[in-house]
Amino acid sequence: MTIAVNALAFLAALLAMEGVAWATHRFLMHGPCWSWHASHHAPRRGGFERNDLFGLVFAVLCTAIFWQGAQPGWAPLWWAAAGMSTYGILYALVHDGLVHRRFPLPFRAKRGYLARLAEAHHLHHATHAREGAVSFGFLMPPDIAGLRRRLRERQASPR
Ligand SMILES: [Zn+2]
Ligand SMILES: [Zn+2]
Repeated sequence: MTIAVNALAFLAALLAMEGVAWATHRFLMHGPCWSWHASHHAPRRGGFERNDLFGLVFAVLCTAIFWQGAQPGWAPLWWAAAGMSTYGILYALVHDGLVHRRFPLPFRAKRGYLARLAEAHHLHHATHAREGAVSFGFLMPPDIAGLRRRLRERQASPR
């Protein structure tokens, strides 16, 4: 029973993180926190960008949740924090490694799910401004044709 609860907490947190990442990207990064995120929509100068600070904030938050989850009786929260960090690791590998090539990976996304994911994210980067971008999620990429259509519409009529 305990194992089932912990496994559920892990999976639910892992899945929920895609929604959290989408909402953070859509409403904070392309909103009041644009001054940090703009660095990720501009050519990078040097090894780091100001946008990397978001990763640091998530890591601190996650550490706090791990700490609380390590208290007696809070095991499912510890597993939820493990699900959150697993998302963070996947995000770093795929977003920073596979898509943006910030560190060497032995393969590229040529077809299938990973290629669709990379293309959806490149479409996000087609916009260099706070407004008018599409595709704010990451690990569950929507249909590419639909994204292209929406991007064209937004570029034709900037809000
Ligand atoms: Zn963005
Ligand atoms: Zn990116």
